[in-house]
Amino acid sequence: MPTARVVPLTPVDKVYTYLVPAELEAEALPGARVVIPFGARTLTGVVVERTDEAGPRLKPILDVLDDVPSFSPVLLRLTQWIADYYVCAWGDVLKAALPSGTTVESHRVVHRTERPSLGLNGVGGQVLALLEADGPQPIGTVQQSIDGVTASLLRRLERDELIRVEKELTSASVTVKTEWHLSLADGVGPEAADSLRGAKQTAIIETLARLQADGEVESRQADVLAETGASSTTVKSLVEKGFVERIEKEIVRTPFDTEPEPEPPPVHELNAGQVEALFQIGAALGAGETKTFLLHGVTGSGKTEVYIRALRHTLEAGRTGIVLVPEIALTPQTVRRFRAHFGDRVAVLHSRMSAGERYDAWRHLNNGRFDVAIGPRSAIFAPLRNVGLIVVDEEHEGSYKQFDPAPRYHARDVAVMRAHLERAVCVLGSATPSLESTLNAKAGKYELLTMPDRVPVPGRKAAELPPVEIVDLTWEKKVRRLKGALSHPLREAIRDRLEKGEGIILLQNRRGYSPIVTCDDCGWTPECRDCAVTLTYHKSHRHLRCHYCGLVEPLPTRCPQCGSSDLARLGAGTQRVEEELAEVFPDARVLRMDLDTTGRKNAHQKILDAFGRSEADILIGTQMVAKGLDFARVTLVGVVDADTGLLLPDFRAAERTFQLLMQVAGRAGRGALRGEVILQTRSPDNPALQHAARHDFAGFIRTELPDRRAFGYPPYGKLVGVEFKGPSERTVQQTAERWTRLLRQQGGAVEVLGPNPAFIGRVKKQFRFHTIVKSTEPGQPYALSRLVRATNDQFGKPPNGVRINVDVDPVGLL
Ligand code: ADP
Ligand code: ZN
Ligand code: ZN
Repeated sequence: MPTARVVPLTPVDKVYTYLVPAELEAEALPGARVVIPFGARTLTGVVVERTDEAGPRLKPILDVLDDVPSFSPVLLRLTQWIADYYVCAWGDVLKAALPSGTTVESHRVVHRTERPSLGLNGVGGQVLALLEADGPQPIGTVQQSIDGVTASLLRRLERDELIRVEKELTSASVTVKTEWHLSLADGVGPEAADSLRGAKQTAIIETLARLQADGEVESRQADVLAETGASSTTVKSLVEKGFVERIEKEIVRTPFDTEPEPEPPPVHELNAGQVEALFQIGAALGAGETKTFLLHGVTGSGKTEVYIRALRHTLEAGRTGIVLVPEIALTPQTVRRFRAHFGDRVAVLHSRMSAGERYDAWRHLNNGRFDVAIGPRSAIFAPLRNVGLIVVDEEHEGSYKQFDPAPRYHARDVAVMRAHLERAVCVLGSATPSLESTLNAKAGKYELLTMPDRVPVPGRKAAELPPVEIVDLTWEKKVRRLKGALSHPLREAIRDRLEKGEGIILLQNRRGYSPIVTCDDCGWTPECRDCAVTLTYHKSHRHLRCHYCGLVEPLPTRCPQCGSSDLARLGAGTQRVEEELAEVFPDARVLRMDLDTTGRKNAHQKILDAFGRSEADILIGTQMVAKGLDFARVTLVGVVDADTGLLLPDFRAAERTFQLLMQVAGRAGRGALRGEVILQTRSPDNPALQHAARHDFAGFIRTELPDRRAFGYPPYGKLVGVEFKGPSERTVQQTAERWTRLLRQQGGAVEVLGPNPAFIGRVKKQFRFHTIVKSTEPGQPYALSRLVRATNDQFGKPPNGVRINVDVDPVGLL
């Protein structure tokens, strides 16, 4: 009998063999979702291979959920690679690649029986009371609501026939949506209305006849009913009499119904840089080669235009494309441009879409109705076949890394791998490429394409990058007695733009939870001598600690550099700055954009649109204001405190700050008016700031790469972060210690730091410890993953309540 290898969609890291019953043989293909018995449960799994290895006691597959397999052969291999490389279960990756709400699963549900409880009290009594009050409950819910509900207690209640535990199947919560369409039956014309008596019936026939004469053979029933005021019963009787035909049509839910249609795209003559880039990309596409390009072009150099043309080539060749953007809400202009060019061939995948919208987009990518997917990191799993081009816009963005839950993948790296498996071309674009991609380009793994100039703007000679002025906050404080957050030069610049009616963007990238100590007078910050990262202040122990290696130092009472006793925790958040603006410029209209003001759907868009329509003079916000915005009226960009990012305890702090400053600076002077950038800092000599101020990417790379090499950080060394967490500090610590000891015993060319209490030692009542594993052997990308997996296997199941999370190539180690 034929069998199939199936991966259940659970964190169990194994592949199981099932029998394929004859009636399911044609559908239980590799990549198809199937329903399987799994222990006491019923689960959804994915067939990864068809085999013929009937063994004893194999169970049969119960059902097949797909007509078209959900996973193409390429996606199966890609998800398996992710599981291997990122050290997680294949089932977790498959699950992450599917839209939510589309799987079938069984739950055990507790019901109350008819039998009286006879005044039972204690925990058992509470269980019965809950069921009587709220009806049947899943076991998990009962255990969460009431303390001390054990399996044996439930068995006892069941034996006494006070409760009944039943297995119930919850089916997919998301389904296909349909609507009715009407047309006149063959040979029926407007004259048929004469033979009908009801006015509503006549109206329907007349309306359909008129629409048909206008060339609309089928009309939505809802529209016809709205126009005629008739009801669906009237339609039914017309159908029964044979006047009207009614068919059910599937509809595609999209999030665009409320959006205006995008403007028709302008046609540009490409400039020299664009021509060259497209020529190279086109050649690779034409040759059917798999190749990765790094498109390094300053903001406004015309990269998006290149993506669009390359995608057009791809579609003309009959292949499909994926475009990744860091976050849809922050890149509305980019998405609109793609929609303007490719219309309804594009499926936009969006984290704020409803489950139904997402399911429809996914299904029609899978069945070939859409041939372009655009979206954030998870769009890399778009179920397209024959992918020819994958674009990763702003490839340096940290949001491409998934943090929680597993799979903790980096979508850029997955994109490169998928392109390889699809024999496709991958284009990574950025104004400030990551050091990883820069080094890959230097090593010849990626082909570098550069576009160093902005596209000239009509009415001005050249769209130069804006000049950047660095303001030394320490000096401002000492000499000018600065009290608030806005220095004299920044205030004067703001005043000037307000008078001229030009736009202002202020960046205050305050991360609320960074307890970093700094000297208010000279800008000194404590650093770990071994790890080149900032030490953080732990309030509970009143000491400084290195988040990487665990080094502990007392908090000095005076600044070791200048002797000042003004050691302060860092700065003001966006709200404080907003208040200060209101005091200094009471007439200015200010919009704030941060996590607090963008919680609701479309909130970003509303703020940006309002700013675009000049309904505000100043837009202040966190890094959200730095991304992808293109407002011609903005001529001043102010960075309130460039140090916030620089001082994070992260080896990428300088790179992130450099990228952010370059990006936000790119927001000024995009139109015909000249722009200006003012950067406030306590460390004016910092190379990241200095290079950003000169728009000098190459210079920054030249100073940063040797530092990374010296400390063995990426892109030279590889890192894996392992997090241990759970409700009991002792158990978590013991687990972390035992696991780390096992890892050390494995040997290999690695350096192991930890375990250490995590930077944020306790989150949601969970204690956290972590260990950092650093490989010192370049060119062995899989060695570290294998080592960690071997340690996991040897360690076995962690104690109750403790979780071990592995993060390969982490972007942040907080
Ligand atoms: P990037 O993606 O590098 O920021 P864009 O592709 O958005 O650059 O281009 C910046 C602006 O210049 C856009 O408004 C775009 O429409 C326009 N543009 C792009 N290429 C050309 C061109 N060859 N000629 C004229 N305008 C162009
Ligand atoms: Zn000092
Ligand atoms: Zn250290």
